[in-house]
Amino acid sequence: MAYTIEGSTGAWEVVVGLEVHAQVISKSKLFSGAATAFGAAPNSQVSFVDAAFPGMLPVPNREAIAQAVRTGLGLAAEINLVSRFDRKNYFYADLPQGYQISQFEHPIVGKGVVDIALADGSTKQVGITRLHLEQDAGKSLHDQHPTKSFIDLNRSGVALMEIVSEPDIRSPEEAGAYVKKLRSILRYLGTCDGNMEEGSLRADVNVSVRKAGEAYRTRCEVKNVNSVRFVMQAVEAEALRQIAVWESGGTVEQETRLFDANRGETRPMRSKEDAHDYRYFPDPDLLPVVLEQSWVDALKAALPELPDAKQARFIREYGLSPYDAAVLVAEQATAQFFEAVASGRDAKLAANWVTGDFFAALNRTGRSIENPPITAAALGRLLDLMADGTINGKIAKEVFEAMLDSGEDPAAIVDARGLRQVTDTSAIDAAVDAVLAANPEKVAEYKSGKDKLFGFFVGNVMKAMAGKGNPALVNAALKQRLG
Ligand code: MN
Repeated sequence: MAYTIEGSTGAWEVVVGLEVHAQVISKSKLFSGAATAFGAAPNSQVSFVDAAFPGMLPVPNREAIAQAVRTGLGLAAEINLVSRFDRKNYFYADLPQGYQISQFEHPIVGKGVVDIALADGSTKQVGITRLHLEQDAGKSLHDQHPTKSFIDLNRSGVALMEIVSEPDIRSPEEAGAYVKKLRSILRYLGTCDGNMEEGSLRADVNVSVRKAGEAYRTRCEVKNVNSVRFVMQAVEAEALRQIAVWESGGTVEQETRLFDANRGETRPMRSKEDAHDYRYFPDPDLLPVVLEQSWVDALKAALPELPDAKQARFIREYGLSPYDAAVLVAEQATAQFFEAVASGRDAKLAANWVTGDFFAALNRTGRSIENPPITAAALGRLLDLMADGTINGKIAKEVFEAMLDSGEDPAAIVDARGLRQVTDTSAIDAAVDAVLAANPEKVAEYKSGKDKLFGFFVGNVMKAMAGKGNPALVNAALKQRLG
């Protein structure tokens, strides 16, 4: 069912479009050779171009352009073989040029699409309007001195991709799913690290509200939201604010706002300027960007398998549910780990162990999939011990915990602790007889039709065998004895 917010005048639909700024993974900046590494000492990665010294000329970074094209291809978007850089004029203390080199009328990437999956199992397409390349600005530091502001130009000139969506998003959930999916695609492509805490990925959230069937009403832009959770909260907070304005007889004014995560509300930043306020014009220092189709084709041929294609393959090849497959493909490293465990084994069982006990172990130990507490090879060997009947599934959990604690190989743990599954039928029969002899009244109840008691007997036999009985053989022996 469509998401709406109930106001005093009835249901309101929420309309959202996102502009995501994604920092391009590239060793140097968009128009200079200065480095881009995060966390460097202030102003240690600034060339004369980035500091806008008179007479300096920008030179486009071929790799940054390739990254934008790869991203466009990953978003199933049109690649524009001719694009152009424009100057977007505005004043900021941390923008020494007095303008940002961006792309306005002729972006490098045109219309594309992102598929998002929703909690109710449905999927939805969100249109991409465009992707353009532009420079980042520097950073003003206001908390270093009681009366002075400092400027750090390390970020000045760093390549950004601005990825603009169509206003296709209709709920906080869809907004969150869109940012997550976009981030996943960028990380697969290796074009942006998606690190929202470090500011490599930040979202401007355009929100408006309307009654069903209406044309779009005025929107407001919530600037620089830096986590998926905050994007979702910002959509809801801003929609609620606008509904209150309309319902009290007021008018929503187009403006740029900030999201205050502590208060869970948006507040005004500045009245929104229109494109003509920036006095865009083609940058006279730069030629148009002209790409050869063969170069684009070569980049396309070298793209990795992307999340949607990988998910479809996991469903097809491994028989996974769409949900399990989606969880496993969200990060490339997780998908790789799963495939290493599943290779030549029961894939469904591998998926259960990776998304279950293994993910829980990552959380508990605070480790990452890149530096896992148990390797894919070791987890695979644990699965092998179950497959060949050396241990049963219950004992496998115990061995898994021991692997986490000791880092030892599963087979060594099984031997050292004597955890081998008991398949000796005389030992199993003896345990069954002992349990039945100790519970004559339960046996009588079972025989009078209380079938549910079978589980009680299985549990007690397994307990008597320290969990090591072969479950199939224990079941068979009990069935036979209980007639
Ligand atoms: Mn921008």
